[in-house]
Amino acid sequence: MAYGFDTLQIHAGARPDPATGARNTPIYQTTAYVFRDAEHAAALFNLQEVGYIYSRLTNPTVSVLQERVATLEGGVGAVCCSSGHAAQIMALFPLMAPGRNVVVSTRLYGGSITQFSHTIQRFGWSAKFVDFDDLAAIEAAIDDDTRAVFCESIANPGGYITDLGAVAKLADKAGLPLIVDNTSATPYLCRPIEHGATLVVHSMTKYLTGNGTVTGGVVVDSGKFNWSASDKFPSLSEPEPAYHGLKFHETFGPLAFTFHGIAIGLRDLGMTLNPQAAHYTLMGIETLSLRMRKHCDNAQRVAEWLEKDQRIEAVTYAGLKSSPYHDRVKTICPKGAGGLFTVTLKGGYDACIKLVDSLELFSHVANLGDTRSLIIHSASTTHRQLTPEQLEAAGAGANVVRISIGIEDADDIIADLDQALARATG
Ligand SMILES: *Cc1c(COP(=O)(O)O)cnc(C)c1O
Repeated sequence: MAYGFDTLQIHAGARPDPATGARNTPIYQTTAYVFRDAEHAAALFNLQEVGYIYSRLTNPTVSVLQERVATLEGGVGAVCCSSGHAAQIMALFPLMAPGRNVVVSTRLYGGSITQFSHTIQRFGWSAKFVDFDDLAAIEAAIDDDTRAVFCESIANPGGYITDLGAVAKLADKAGLPLIVDNTSATPYLCRPIEHGATLVVHSMTKYLTGNGTVTGGVVVDSGKFNWSASDKFPSLSEPEPAYHGLKFHETFGPLAFTFHGIAIGLRDLGMTLNPQAAHYTLMGIETLSLRMRKHCDNAQRVAEWLEKDQRIEAVTYAGLKSSPYHDRVKTICPKGAGGLFTVTLKGGYDACIKLVDSLELFSHVANLGDTRSLIIHSASTTHRQLTPEQLEAAGAGANVVRISIGIEDADDIIADLDQALARATG
């Protein structure tokens, strides 16, 4: 039977605990698992039998979360990791090698821009930043050393919507996987795999957990990419020396990427999600659709109110008729444009700083996707490492604040913005 989203967000991957009948998924707070006998241990290490060895690799609580997110995204498998940033490295790791590059959107979470423009160079990898509304520029940026294309579905901080179908076609034509960071949209609003994405990554820190309690990440595999179609992905298609010559694609078929992520990625990079965090995220996901509906309704109301206000120069919310992305929302995020947008203040930098300091209900934090309404001045915080050109391209100029609308009463959110704008603009 094919269940709907609201049912799957509660039940997918979970079953009553076989040992105790516990209805909720227990937190398996254990490092290791007893082997039945020496033969069993060898079979597990050979990946001939699926089971639990050591919690850096797999853990029953984390496994439930992996199956839950994979199901909600329409993927065949998922690997959880310790943060969204860990998930990005875990997604690229099987694909990249020294000298290889990834073509990425200029509109990304600030931390991702830094990770891609500086830190990955330590591995000999590089990123080519392109405006993803310019399809010809993406095509021109792809070269013989490109191994992936990376973008966000709803792009942070502006809430811009990426034309995933068009980008996926380009990646496909070049024989490359498309990786979509679906953090800001969640699978409730957008299912990138249906638009042609190969891999979906999340910071589960945000909407999936939904209440600002944990850091976590996940890589979901569509299972649809043919890793053996070219010689570009030898770690998946050829004998892998790090796993005694195992050919992952030949052995595991559509689950090759997921097995590689556990057997090599988690084993050797160790960016593992702990079972306690997985428990909090599982609890959060149970109410994902309810929260996302309210986030979208609230964001729509607040964005409409702000746009009419004399103290505001512009609001980027894609749910607004004035947004260049308004039509694209209907195909990419048919249930709503999310809870994230930026606001440009007529009073410039000074007004932004005063606004942030004058809000009472809003929290001034470097986070998004919380039940609480949050605000940040990106240019002086999360996007601080960026050059002025990168700031402009990312939609995070000095006169811009990023708002993540919570699920409080919309009237209260608006009242708080009203009083703070009054103080900020004198
Ligand atoms: C927060 C965030 C990340 C990074 O996730 P962490 O869990 O903080 O490591 C990546 N992408 C997007 C869109 C984010 O919002």
